[in-house]
Amino acid sequence: MMDAIRSHLSVKLLISYLIVIFVVVFIMVSTTQMTLPGAFDRHVGGQQNPPPGQRRPDAMMALYNNFRDSFNDALAYSLIASGLAALAVSLVFSRSIIAPLQAMMKASQRIANGHYDERVRVTGSDELAQLGRRFNRMTERLEQTENMRRQLLGDVSHELRTPLTAIGGYMEGLIDGVLPATPETYEQVRHEALRLGRLVDDLQELSRVESRSFELNRRSLALDVPLATTVKRLGRQFEEKGVKLTLNLPADLPPVLADEDRLTQILTNLIGNALSYTPAGGEVNVGAQRRGGELRIAIKDSGIGIPPEHLPHIFDRFYRVDKSRSRASGGGSGIGLTIARHLVEAHGGRIQAESEGAGQGSTFTFTIPVGK
Ligand code: ADP
Repeated sequence: MMDAIRSHLSVKLLISYLIVIFVVVFIMVSTTQMTLPGAFDRHVGGQQNPPPGQRRPDAMMALYNNFRDSFNDALAYSLIASGLAALAVSLVFSRSIIAPLQAMMKASQRIANGHYDERVRVTGSDELAQLGRRFNRMTERLEQTENMRRQLLGDVSHELRTPLTAIGGYMEGLIDGVLPATPETYEQVRHEALRLGRLVDDLQELSRVESRSFELNRRSLALDVPLATTVKRLGRQFEEKGVKLTLNLPADLPPVLADEDRLTQILTNLIGNALSYTPAGGEVNVGAQRRGGELRIAIKDSGIGIPPEHLPHIFDRFYRVDKSRSRASGGGSGIGLTIARHLVEAHGGRIQAESEGAGQGSTFTFTIPVGK
């Protein structure tokens, strides 16, 4: 019982006030008891103390006792009055301190139960108000993370379902004899299985970059190095599709400060997209120039372009301008640009997309800091 009472902040506050009052009163009583007889004798009883061993005259004694009692009464009344004042002050103060704390306690309980939209009301600018604001900011982040997690789960299951349904459909057709057991049918099944594999790889990479659980081994390197690797990887596909790839890099281009593998990945995603979304006979051009302390790298294609209403979303995960089109062409899952954006930002750069509209081609530009 005593512990429960003591555990309340308001009781602690009241006790601390009372202790201060008692200490002050104790000091006052002890000092006045020492100084009172001397002061009385100096002012009333003849300007000096009676000589040692001699008592005050009786009349004087009664007067002195009277004086001392009324002094002690005054002390006792002031002790009671200040105790009551302490009680009132501690009640008012504790309400202004305890109410916000209790609100935060209640809110955190509701958040723990999964109600992430919970916020506390904040007024003023003292430490408690700052705590309340930080508490709300923390809750906001929790809510965002929870929404992202929910959306990711939904997106991932949706993305996994498509190839799985296709594989299931092919197998059912084969069992029922509706589909012929030809190499083409098996090739279709293999194609879907490969797509599933690619999707899982992409998802793994996405989770790594989104949670920032990868290390950047940055060093100063010439842009030609990752660019050559990318061209080697994609060169044959460009030839097979009949799309021309040109590089347009100034001779005096400074090196960049980047992680070679990650920069290669950014370039592969962007140049790979440019190839995917440019029909045969089209062109893709890679250019770079220095802008202050950064290198601006632009990948321009003469492909199908991006309608303006889609431009703000294409870096969002799983976003595809035309879902049926990228599926039919065996295209990606809408993760490539999200990964590219995270990698560019991890290097301290920015990425953006421009397009005049459908059929007008697109240009993807990103910046990377210049190295030494
Ligand atoms: P995907 O794997 O589907 O290509 P991305 O994240 O790489 O996913 O791209 C997202 C979407 O942005 C694509 O589905 C496509 O609609 C659009 N897109 C990306 N690059 C281009 C481009 N060079 N030209 C036209 N559209 C593009």
